[in-house]
Amino acid sequence: MTGRILKGVGGFYTVLAGSGRTVICKARGRFRKDGLAPLPGDMTEITALPDGTGRLDEILPRRNVFIRPPVANIDALVLVAGLTPPVSTEFWIDRILAVARQKGASPILCLNKSDLDAGRDAEELAALYRAAGCTVIRTSAVTGEGAEELRQAVKGKVAAFSGHSGVGKSSLLNLLMPGMALPVGELSEKLGRGRHTTRHVELFEGPGGSWVADTPGFSAFDPEQMDMPGRAELPSLFPEFEDCRCRFQDCAHINEKDCGVRQAVDAGAIARSRYESYIKIYGMLNR
Ligand code: GDP
Ligand code: ZN
Repeated sequence: MTGRILKGVGGFYTVLAGSGRTVICKARGRFRKDGLAPLPGDMTEITALPDGTGRLDEILPRRNVFIRPPVANIDALVLVAGLTPPVSTEFWIDRILAVARQKGASPILCLNKSDLDAGRDAEELAALYRAAGCTVIRTSAVTGEGAEELRQAVKGKVAAFSGHSGVGKSSLLNLLMPGMALPVGELSEKLGRGRHTTRHVELFEGPGGSWVADTPGFSAFDPEQMDMPGRAELPSLFPEFEDCRCRFQDCAHINEKDCGVRQAVDAGAIARSRYESYIKIYGMLNR
C-alpha cells in the first residue's frame, strides 16, 4: 500500500497509510545501498508485516526535495517575516522566494505581528510582494488576524514554515493547529529547553487536509545549502521580469543595451529591491 512518511527517527519511519492508519516501518536494506534516504513528506510503497509494523519498499517519485531542512514534496513554502525585530530583510525574502520557485513550491509570505507597530510600511511591502507573484497575508498570532486566510492558503497542501527564530512560526502553527502546543518564546528560552537537539522534521495534520512541516532547530530554509539555480535559470525565478522585452533574447539583465528589465526598474514598474536581490543572487552563482 502507499503512504506518506510523517517522520523518521533512528531508522524507523512513521508512515500514514491510505487507510488513515499510521504504520512504523523499517526501510529495506537497499535504500542505504542506493544512497537514497527516505524523508518526511515522501510518498512510499509499504508492505504490512504480521507483527503490525511495516516494511518500506519504495520511494515514489518526488515533486521536490530540500536538503536543509530534510523534507520532500513541499507544495507551499510559508515564509514568516518580521517587520519588528527580528526583521527579515528583502534580500532574505527574495532568496527564499527564488528557491521556492525553483523547487516548484508556491510561496506564501506572512507578515506577522501585525498587531505591533512595525515602524515600516507593511502595506507597501505586501504590495511589493504581491507584484512579485507571491501570496501575502498579514497575520497576528495575538489577534488571530489572517489566520483564516492562512488556513485557506495551505488547504490540501504540504506546507513548510520558514523564518528567523522569533518571528512567530511556532505561534502561527499553534494558531493553525490548536492542539499542537509548540513551545513559544525567545530564542534563549527555546535553546534552554533543548529544542535545538530535536533535529528531526515532522509533518503534522493541519487544517483542511493539509500537512504542515515543523522544522525545529532550523531558523530558515538555507538557500546556500541547496542546489541554487544556474544563472540562465535565474530570470525565470523572478516572475515580474517575464513581460519585459529586451533587445537580446539571452539578456542577463545586468548591463546589456536596451534591457527591458532595467527600463522597468527605472520606470518604477519593478521594485528596485527585487532587482538588487537579483543582481546579488546572480553574483553568488558561478555558472
Ligand atoms: P519562532 O521562533 O519563529 O517559532 O517564534 P515564536 O512563535 O516562538 O514567537 C517568538 C515571540 O514572538 C514570542 O514571544 C511570541 O509570543 C511572540 N509573537 C509571535 N507572534 C506574534 C504576533 O503575531 N504578535 C505579537 N505581538 N507577538 C507575537
Ligand atoms: Zn534584459
